[in-house]
This record gives sequence, structure tokens and C-alpha cells, in this order.
Amino acid sequence: MSSPYFQQLATETRRARVNLCSQLNEQHRQLNEFSDAKVNLHEVTEFYRWGYLSDSSLVEANAAYAKASCKEFSERLLTLPRELRDMIYGQLWNRDPPPLGQMVWPNRAHTWQTRCSGPPCMCLEHLPHFIDLNFVGAQVAYEMLEALKRVAAKYIRDYTVNAGELQNFCTADVFHVGMTREEVLRRMDLTISMGQFVYGDEKTLEETQAILEEDIEEATGLLQQMPFEKPRAVTFNITHDHAKAVNLAQVLQSLQPTFEALRDKGFQMRLHYINHNLEIDWQLGSAVWDWSVEEWRTNMRKLGDLNVGFPLHVQDAQDPEKTLTEEQFKNQDPTWDIIARHLYGVNMDM
Ligand SMILES: [Zn+2]
Repeated sequence: MSSPYFQQLATETRRARVNLCSQLNEQHRQLNEFSDAKVNLHEVTEFYRWGYLSDSSLVEANAAYAKASCKEFSERLLTLPRELRDMIYGQLWNRDPPPLGQMVWPNRAHTWQTRCSGPPCMCLEHLPHFIDLNFVGAQVAYEMLEALKRVAAKYIRDYTVNAGELQNFCTADVFHVGMTREEVLRRMDLTISMGQFVYGDEKTLEETQAILEEDIEEATGLLQQMPFEKPRAVTFNITHDHAKAVNLAQVLQSLQPTFEALRDKGFQMRLHYINHNLEIDWQLGSAVWDWSVEEWRTNMRKLGDLNVGFPLHVQDAQDPEKTLTEEQFKNQDPTWDIIARHLYGVNMDM
């Protein structure tokens, strides 16, 4: 830290912080004058967004004020060098509690839009306002999301997306700054919920077979295009409660090429298969790729004692209740066989 560059950076950071504080103080003072409310800019913005202010003229006035203040703030921010801006973004995300949760699990009222034609708009109103370009402008919103991408995995390990939502997740410009959610969250582990593909009765399957095939094809196509940036886990989560799944083999067969292609790209491919009806909760991590046919035949019974390369698995292994009864084994074995054959390509007849 003794180089002149770092000393200068430290001085400039201190100066930038002092400047930012005085800007905020000034905004605070103006705001107090404006609405006589003893709240700071951030709170007013949040109040506005959560609809706590019921008087519509006050809401509008506050919204306009908050937006104008944020825009002005962004303009000043953009006069700083990028290194300093990144430090400031980093401080925004690295708070306790980190506001990342508001982005990963936004308010229930939030939907990830595909059809919004862009700002000015309200489609980002439930997300932190500092990634909403309606407040901070497109460049700051973009840089803020890049900063989020860098810190995301530090706070939350895994992001879950429904298979039906993949189109939006991988392609939609939901922040209106040319960045998808897939890109922003690309350093976190990813779980894709695929239970919806598995059916419990032939009739429904027959009626919707064509749509189902299209849906699976779309999902796998999107997943195969997912760029590989760093080794991380990608989990196919198949949760369903059908006593007899009528198309499990078919579904796994359709997923298998993608499962393998992603593994070959460098992702740690995992399967989490849950069927409460059959009391199944199998977590199969990267270690199972190395199993021999014989191991596949015998490992279901001792799954709790094995290291399968799936971190959650350890907790389950300590649960003494997990020892299989003969009846459970009989109920579960056909499903195990289908998974081995159709997702992992194991020749169980050998
Ligand atoms: Zn929008």
C-alpha cells in the first residue's frame, strides 16, 4: 500500500467520501425544507416505492424529487474515475445486511418484465433504486450491476430459476441496460427447477406432449448456450410428488445431452431429485460420474455414507433416520434405475 498510486487513491477516496457525504447532507437539508419530513433521501425513495405515502400529490412530488436527486448524484458520481466509482458501488453492495437479497428475492409484487419498452417505466420499482436506471441513469445502473456480479457469490451461493423462466433469465434485458439476469448472477451456483416436466398420468401427458417437448427443447437450448466463466455448480432440481411418474425416463433422456454438454464445458453438474410421496431426496454431485455400474447398483442403499460431491449431502448423512427399509428400497429402486440409465447413461444391464 506504500506506492504513490495507492496513496493517491486513498486520498482521493477520502475526498470522494467527504464530497458524497456533503452532497447527501445537502440533499437531506433540501429535502427537509421541501417536505418538512425528518427522513433522508434513501428513506423517501423507499417510502415512495413501497407506497407508504398515500397522498398522491406528495407521492408524485417525492418521486420526482427522489429521481432528480439521484440523477444529479449519478452525474457527479460519473465525474469520478472508474476505480473510485467501483469502490463506492462495492460499499453499497457490501453493507450489512447486503441489499443483494432485494435483487435475488425481490418483493412478491415484482415480475421480471420482457415486454417493457424501457424508461421511463415502473418495471424496476421493487428493486433497489440504485440499479434502477429511472433513478440513477443507464451508465450508473450498468456499472452497479457489474459490481453486483463481482460480489454476488460472496453473499448467496445459489440462485434458483424455474425451467419455464429460463427464456427470461437468459435473454431478457430486464434492467434495460443490456445485461441479463444470467450475466449478473453468472458467478453464483445455479439451480434449475424442472419438476414441472414430470407427469403423473398418461392422459395429461398425451394431451400436452407436444408442448412439453417444445418446453424442454427451449430450456435445454438456452442452457447449452450458457457461457462458462468459472467452475461452479449447476443443479437440475427435479421435485414432484407423483407415486408413478409416467414420463421420467423420457424427460431425463431429453435432458441428458445438455447435462453432459454442460459438464464437458466445466460446470459441476448435479442432480437433486425429490419425491416426497416415495420419501426420496437424492443429491447426486459430481462424484457420481465416476461410479462403476456395480457402484450404481449398490450405492442407493448407502447414499448417506458417501461423499457424492454435493455439499448439502453431508447434513443428510448425519441423519440416522435415513436408513432405508426394504419397502422403501422396493419403492425407490425403479426411479434410481431410471436416473442411472437415462440421465447418467449407465448400462445397468451389464
Ligand atoms: Zn421497464
